[in-house]
Amino acid sequence: MSVFKYEQDADGIVTVTMDMTGPVNAMNEEYRLAMDETLARLEAEQGLAGVVLASAKKVFFAGGDLNDLLAAKPGDEAAFMAAGERVKSGLRRLEKLPVPVVAAINGAALGGGFEIALACNYRVAYNDRSVQLGLPEVSLGLLPGGGGVVRMVNLLGLEKALPYLLEGTRLEPGAALEAGMVHELVESQDALVPAAKAWIKAQQGNADAAVQPWDRKGFRLPGGNASSPQVAQLITVAPAMLRKKTRGLMPAPEVILDCAVEAARLDFDTALKIESRGLTWLAMTPVAKNMISTFFFAMNRINRGGSRPQGVPPRSVTKVGILGAGMMGQGIAYVSAMAGIQVVLKDISVEAAEKGKAYSEGLLAKRVQRGKMSEEKMQQVLDLILATASNDDLAGCDLIVEAVFENMALKHKITRELEGQLAAGGVWGSNTSSLPITELANASSTPANFIGIHFFSPVDKMPLVEIICGEKTSDETLAKAYDYARQIRKTPIVVNDSLGFFTSRTFGTYLDEGVRMVKEGLHPVLVENMGKAVGMPVGPLAVYDEVSLELTIKAQATWEEMGVLDKFSDGSVTRGVINTLVNEHGRGGRHHGGGFYEYAADGGKSIWPGLLDLYYQPDISAPEQDLRDRLLFRQVIESLRCLESGVLRTVDDGNIGSVMGIGAPPWTGGFIQFVNTYGVDRFVARCEELASRYGERFEPPAIARQKLAAGELFE
Ligand code: NAD
Repeated sequence: MSVFKYEQDADGIVTVTMDMTGPVNAMNEEYRLAMDETLARLEAEQGLAGVVLASAKKVFFAGGDLNDLLAAKPGDEAAFMAAGERVKSGLRRLEKLPVPVVAAINGAALGGGFEIALACNYRVAYNDRSVQLGLPEVSLGLLPGGGGVVRMVNLLGLEKALPYLLEGTRLEPGAALEAGMVHELVESQDALVPAAKAWIKAQQGNADAAVQPWDRKGFRLPGGNASSPQVAQLITVAPAMLRKKTRGLMPAPEVILDCAVEAARLDFDTALKIESRGLTWLAMTPVAKNMISTFFFAMNRINRGGSRPQGVPPRSVTKVGILGAGMMGQGIAYVSAMAGIQVVLKDISVEAAEKGKAYSEGLLAKRVQRGKMSEEKMQQVLDLILATASNDDLAGCDLIVEAVFENMALKHKITRELEGQLAAGGVWGSNTSSLPITELANASSTPANFIGIHFFSPVDKMPLVEIICGEKTSDETLAKAYDYARQIRKTPIVVNDSLGFFTSRTFGTYLDEGVRMVKEGLHPVLVENMGKAVGMPVGPLAVYDEVSLELTIKAQATWEEMGVLDKFSDGSVTRGVINTLVNEHGRGGRHHGGGFYEYAADGGKSIWPGLLDLYYQPDISAPEQDLRDRLLFRQVIESLRCLESGVLRTVDDGNIGSVMGIGAPPWTGGFIQFVNTYGVDRFVARCEELASRYGERFEPPAIARQKLAAGELFE
């Protein structure tokens, strides 16, 4: 029996229900066979009145098989293209059937799933949040190669289609209806097929209902084709606008734009062929491999508990205590209450705690304003947060997250004072960004229950949580922190204790290398631009200002006291510059009136001219490729050192942590995945080259040499 169930009713309407082997319907060989067979049957069917395409799975259709895409390598182009063309010709046959074809969309239809729906004459969707629609291929370095680019352009016109294709927007059914991407919504899954059939029946006598708009005589592209003045103007400026966003590092959006423009210029079938070539080319690029490996496979493994101890039953948090209602504490309170957790937000005074709670109020009010939340729900969330200065209110918390000032003695003191308030078996989490967890846990009577839960700022926006195990942290404690992170809808990575953990330690090398370049005499604007050219969201000097130069000096004083200053690399060059800026010129960073930059009242900023007087030497220059590689390789090398010394427990944690916590350029797929497609051999050779020119900090880590000798990748 086919995995596509085929049922004809008394009215001659055939319902094809896709029910493929495995949990989802996917575009693989089984699909191609089932579709070919079904189409042959439909084409031969006597008295056919219409077709409804439905799904027996929770998801309507999941799209391309990413294992196949990952496996495709240069040399496989012809076979890859042929498989794609088979899928496409099937969809073309489907839309050319002489009867109306309706997609009954019961669950998510993203990528290939939405491409199948686009090849139907009419799309009815179940109006539920679980039903997401769209073409997110660009987020994996690919393009919708099942006719998605060409059909979207023909359906909506070039200008309207482009944002969906270039940004990979996922739409809920209401938004998809408004955008013209589906035709009708129903309020229950059971109503889908009847609604589809009702539409078919209502089309009797309407010959156009069985013909796609683009196959009708006299069809005109909505908004005009490529030679119409408005579209021609768009085509002239779009590449430059796109380049500004991608910085030339992301091939997928560029190829999508190219194919979309061709779809507005050429006949339908020729455009489809160009689209197939585009996907074939993209699928072979290192960027696509990096993005698929990390954003799909690693992300799934991490979110499904890859770094969580097995065998510890899941536990959710019911009452969380948050100590310190400052910048971090207030954000942690918000995300916890949003997840339905009872929150006790404690600061040194009720006023300070209330101020922290007001932060949630502000964010919630914005949600209400935008129609994303009801007033009633807002009040429910706020009622979950108790702002207080009293220790007693913490009684019975099953988790306490400490987010007070970054000071070892203070943190020790409040651990001793307050851990007795925890419920039996409760967990103590510190949000420290730089103090070792093992040492913080020394103040605890039960260090097994002590762990680092490192949030990123702003907490409500940043998706990552770095969980840090101290020497004595138990598996139960780790599992609880992990489950809490999932409960508040964050992605957790798990690392072992070390100065700066994984994210801050690695990120620190980016800042250090940027400052070294300034000290060498290079122009600060060049340094900033090189950071951006490699794909980092912000230049190293601008980030340093945000982090605060003043705070860096304080953290370094603490490390000196602990005897761990320069534990991983020589920070003296950067320290010299920072000390000069802060101590001699009063430039402590953005929140201290300026640092490397000057900040204007209107929000603008420019490099502080004094920086040029201090360090800039016009006759100094360096190859741009070296500058770019220095800023990237320092971070890659540090990530590998974290892996070889056991700070990172898995490659996945390193890749996800670097992209979501540090801002590693998406094209790399994370700082470790980068090495896999750059080539381990090439990487080692380039490290050696940089080391000989710029210093031993670029020496290839032992783990890279080991992988090279073993002929292995980082997996
Ligand atoms: P902050 O100065 O904004 O807030 C600290 C709060 O703690 C203040 O409201 C203060 O009144 C309160 N506090 C001080 N002593 C207290 C006590 N005994 N009991 C209760 N509350 C007390 O600081 P922040 O930026 O929110 O940082 C808090 C912690 O989070 C620090 O350990 C910091 O290293 C860490 N962290 C900060 C960031 C960041 O980007 N700011 C990121 C990750 C981690």
